Amino acid sequence: MPAKGYVEVNELYCKACELCVTDCPHDVLALDLDHLTPTGYHPAHMVNPEACTGCVICANVCPDAAITVYRYDQQKAEV
Ligand code: SF4
Ligand code: SF4
Repeated sequence: MPAKGYVEVNELYCKACELCVTDCPHDVLALDLDHLTPTGYHPAHMVNPEACTGCVICANVCPDAAITVYRYDQQKAEV
């Protein structure tokens, strides 16, 4: 099934708490252990993008408002 959405992680805000990783119902996200943010964290990124439904759960649980969710059927999903 094609992806219905995708997420952008603002690396200036992400503090690698992993809440989005554990709460995504489709295992789309993981911490990027090969990359550090300017503030020294391994940021969340998409590792299974084809499974993203654009459900916005990740953005809602992020305590640092680092995630923006886009849906292919609309420009930006509301949080
Ligand atoms: S929008 Fe939903 S499916 Fe996509 S990464 Fe976020 S929690 Fe996972
Ligand atoms: S919930 Fe937010 S701060 Fe935590 S890892 Fe995900 S994007 Fe980063």
